[in-house]
This record gives sequence, structure tokens and C-alpha cells, in this order.
Amino acid sequence: MCDNSPVEAADVLVVEDAPEFTRIVTTVLQNAGHQVRTAATMTEALAALAVASPDIVILDLGLPDGDGLDLCRLIRERSSVYVLILTGRDNEADKLIGFRLGADDYVTKPFSSRELAARVEALLRRPRTDPNTTPPRVFGDMVVDSVAREVTVAGAPVDLTRIEFDLLDVLSGDPKAVFNRQQLLDRVWGPGWFGDDHVVDVHIANLRKKVDQVGERSWVRTVRGVGYSMAG
Ligand code: CA
Repeated sequence: MCDNSPVEAADVLVVEDAPEFTRIVTTVLQNAGHQVRTAATMTEALAALAVASPDIVILDLGLPDGDGLDLCRLIRERSSVYVLILTGRDNEADKLIGFRLGADDYVTKPFSSRELAARVEALLRRPRTDPNTTPPRVFGDMVVDSVAREVTVAGAPVDLTRIEFDLLDVLSGDPKAVFNRQQLLDRVWGPGWFGDDHVVDVHIANLRKKVDQVGERSWVRTVRGVGYSMAG
């Protein structure tokens, strides 16, 4: 799906110690309609984050009082804010560490204003699940993590397809509810999907094969004549 509508104005915290870059980034963001606050050190950034929740943090790695990667990790421990790393350090190791620490994007200096504006806009279009309001769901020895899109059974990760994960995500998101096939089609395949609703049964069977063979018991229940739910 291609969405050409303008993104909503965002609150952006720019963490950058070089005034010339702070100026460029601020101008680019303000021209795109965003609100900008700035922090020149890690200490200032943490103070700013303690009093307000921005939508995006644009983060320089070389800060006078610490490494931006450490700040990235601290931010990720407490919030799902978008983090875009903006740095002169153009090496693969930093990029990998940045992404592993939860950065959403990485732009290296020098960059064009247009590129930065486009990257910020792309971030704002991404759906985001808030880890603070969506804790992992635990069913016996099975854990469903909607944010990381991961399922573990008895501590071991289970490799699910997108459809299998989405089915489990819907069922486990409301474990007392019974979903009929049409409801699952609407939620997982989308309301525009036309086809045999028994496709749901096929994917549920595959899902069960994967999560039940290692687990202590089955967590997906068939409600005869109705549909599916989590097992109580
Ligand atoms: Ca710097």
C-alpha cells in the first residue's frame, strides 16, 4: 500500500554536540512541520527525555560526555520512541550495534537535507507497538511477544510464518474471546480478502504443529462449530 498523505507533525529531540549540524537538522525538521528540541550532551538528552516523550530521537554517536550507542540502549530500555542515528562514524560494526540496540534507522554524515527529511518521514509512517503497554503474554511455557514478534516455547524460539504469528497474536491478545474464521480473516488477512475461510484451519494446524510439538500442552483451542480461542 502506498500512502502519500502528509505525516503528522512530530516532536523531535535532536541530540548533537556540533552546532552546525544541530542547525541543519533543526531547519530540515522545522521545514517539515515538526517541533524540535535540542540537547548537546548525553546528560542534557537524558534530562530532556525525563520530562517529555518525543516521537523521534535523532542521535549523534560522538557526544562529549559519552557514546550515543549507550544512550540508544538506555532510551530503548524505557521507551519505544523512534531512534535515528546520525553520525560521521560510517562503519559496519557501529551500524550493526546500533540496530541491535534498537535504533530504527542510521544516516551517515554528510547527508542531504532531502535524505534526512525522507528518512524521518518514513519512520513516522511505520506502525509502532508500545513495549510499555504490550508486555509479552505468557501461557504456561509459551511466551508471545507482540513487540518483538517472537514466540518461545520452553525458552526456545519458534519460527512462525507471518500469518501463523498474526493468528497467534490475535488469539493471545484477547485470550478469553472465541474468534470465528471470518473474524480471523478480517484481522490477519485484512477485510478485503476473499477466499475460502478454511484457509484459517490450514494455518492454525501449521501453527499448532510448531508450538505444540515442543510445549507441555496445546494452547490453541478449537471451539467446535464456532472457531478458535486460546486454551484456558
Ligand atoms: Ca559529535
